[in-house]
This record gives sequence, structure tokens and C-alpha cells, in this order.
Amino acid sequence: MQITGVKCFQVQLGGSVSVPTALVRVEGEDGYFGLGEATPMAGGDDALAVLSRLIAPKVVGSQLFDHVVTIETLSQDLIKLGHSAILSAALAAIDIALWDLKGKVLGLPIHELLGGAWRKSMPLYSSIGGNANRTVDEVLRVVERRVEREKPAAVKLRLNAPRTKLDVDITGDLAKARAVRKLLGDDFRLGFDANSAYSTGGALRVGHELEQLGFEWFEEPLPPYHVAAMGQLSQRLGILVSAGEQTYSLQGVKELIEAGISMVQPDVIKMGGITGMMQCSALCSAHGVELVPHQTQPTIGHLANLQVVSTIMHATKPVELADGWERGDAAFVNPSRSVDGHFALPTGPGLGAELDFAALERLTIRHF
Ligand code: CA
Repeated sequence: MQITGVKCFQVQLGGSVSVPTALVRVEGEDGYFGLGEATPMAGGDDALAVLSRLIAPKVVGSQLFDHVVTIETLSQDLIKLGHSAILSAALAAIDIALWDLKGKVLGLPIHELLGGAWRKSMPLYSSIGGNANRTVDEVLRVVERRVEREKPAAVKLRLNAPRTKLDVDITGDLAKARAVRKLLGDDFRLGFDANSAYSTGGALRVGHELEQLGFEWFEEPLPPYHVAAMGQLSQRLGILVSAGEQTYSLQGVKELIEAGISMVQPDVIKMGGITGMMQCSALCSAHGVELVPHQTQPTIGHLANLQVVSTIMHATKPVELADGWERGDAAFVNPSRSVDGHFALPTGPGLGAELDFAALERLTIRHF
């Protein structure tokens, strides 16, 4: 089947998180189409501009079932834009849309095209951001609300402190970690996401204490470009150190693993789409490394992520449910909300969910 059109557009879903959603619609013959999503960073403008100006004209006229050849050719032709940056996010959107289209044409969900799902229901973790600017008491109230509403299998506390300063409030950060442990009890699964807020010394101090408190993982303790230092930190701490949400290439994930990181977190809408994540899954499996994808977008990115995660045999951590998830409801005929702390794997063709296209049209704020 030939690709006949590519449309790039930005949607404002509303809700408590106001960042626009960057979507792409790839059209085939006989009225078939697939949907993809690119990184929402900077509103998705840059990814959508690259998509519409440089990628879409080359995808139109290509053959659907040559989809990886088409994408790899574009990746090589445009390599001077930056191999591991906005280009990979733009191509991720096309990859997801082409998988969705293939599934719809064949009448099969993506996970079946990938070899099958190990599970049809996936536990979630509440990913709670913005804690650097809260008091201990405010953190506890937010955690209480989210746990009650989402019934998560785990909670991850994200600091989201300004990235221009390191080690700003280690005492306060640890007080929040201790208070949440006390609130939820000894057996509750907890993760701590520094969002790169520490120096190596600061991270050692925080990591030792998190280990004592029984936290399960310590995410992005250092700035993401300090790969060797992060690897050394991982080897010096008892707690599992994770990284990789800023890593947009398979080669970058390999460097993290070689440095000593044993839980990696690339994102399906930033690193190669479904094809890239499956390559990453093989890499992780070969090295005995946990693949725990980063994923904060509640519509197409979420569906693509569920399709991939369902195919990982040794899925060791729950699926991320980030802040402002309710905004995704506007995009669906039957909103993909969690039930009793679990996401159901959509089993319809392609990405598998019933989207509300009239609503998406209404919510579109810009065509590219
Ligand atoms: Ca993170």
C-alpha cells in the first residue's frame, strides 16, 4: 500500500497540564490512516516543523510495508540536523503512525505484529511532579490524593527543581522522601526522580538514604550528559540508578548500559517510535538491563507505550501515569482511564483505541 498523505497538527487537550500535543496523521489508500505523536517539548513546534517540511514530502509516495527502510533513509539523509535530538522525535511520530496504519490494514493490534503480549493488563505507578517547590506537608497531601484516586502499584516522587543549580535542598528532599515512606508504609513501592538535581557528592548522600528508606529506584540523579559519572554512581550505590529519558538514540542507550546503568528509560515518542523501542528492548534483554519506558503523554504516546510494554517478557516496573492524565479523555470516544491501578491493553487494530476525531479536530490549534 502506498502512503498518500501526511498531516501534522497541534492539539490543545486542556486540563491541568497546558502543553500542546504534537500529532501526525499518515494516510494510505482506501481511506486507511494511522496516528503518531512526537515529543511535546517546546509545544511540539520544532518536531512538527521538521515533520511537515522535511519528512512528510519523502514519506508520501513510499510503500507502507517498507516502513523501516523509509525511516532509516530519512534518518541518514537528515543526520546533520542532529541524530539524537528533534529528528529522532519527529521520526518516532512517523514510525508510530505507520505501525498504527499497518495494524489497521491487517486488522491486527500492534502487539500481535510484534510477536504477542505477555499481559493484557498492566499495573501503573503514579508519577508525581513538582515536589521541589512543595513543603513536606503539601507533598503528603498530593501523594494521598493521587494514591486514593489512581490506586497505583508504586509512587514516584519527582523534584523538578531548576536545572541551573545543584544540591539546593538535600535536607528538604530527604525529609519529603522519609515522610512519604512513613505515610505509605514499609511495603509500598517507591521511586525517587531527581530530575538531574544533584552533584555526584549530593547524589551519593541522597542515594544512600533512599536505599535505607527502601526506595526501589533513583532516577536521573545527575545531568543526563554525565554518562560516565552516572555509571560510576550506579556502581557505588546499593539503590538501582536509572536514566535515559533524554537519550534519543539506540547508541545512546548502549552508552548508558556500558557505563553501568541497569535500568533505562527511553520514550517511545522521542526515541525511534515502536521500532526504536523494540530494538532497545532487544538490547536491554541481551544485557540483563531493565527497560522501563518514560511516558507522560496520555493519548497516542500512551497507547504506543502500552503496545510495546506488553511485549516485554520481564517487565519489572509498573507503567508511568504522569500529572494531568485526565486531559487525555478529550481525545477518546471511550477514555483510556486506569481501572483499579491497571491499564488495559487495547486490542483493536493498530494502536487499538477508539479516538474521537471530531473532538480532535475541534481541539486542533495549528496545522503545520
Ligand atoms: Ca524522569
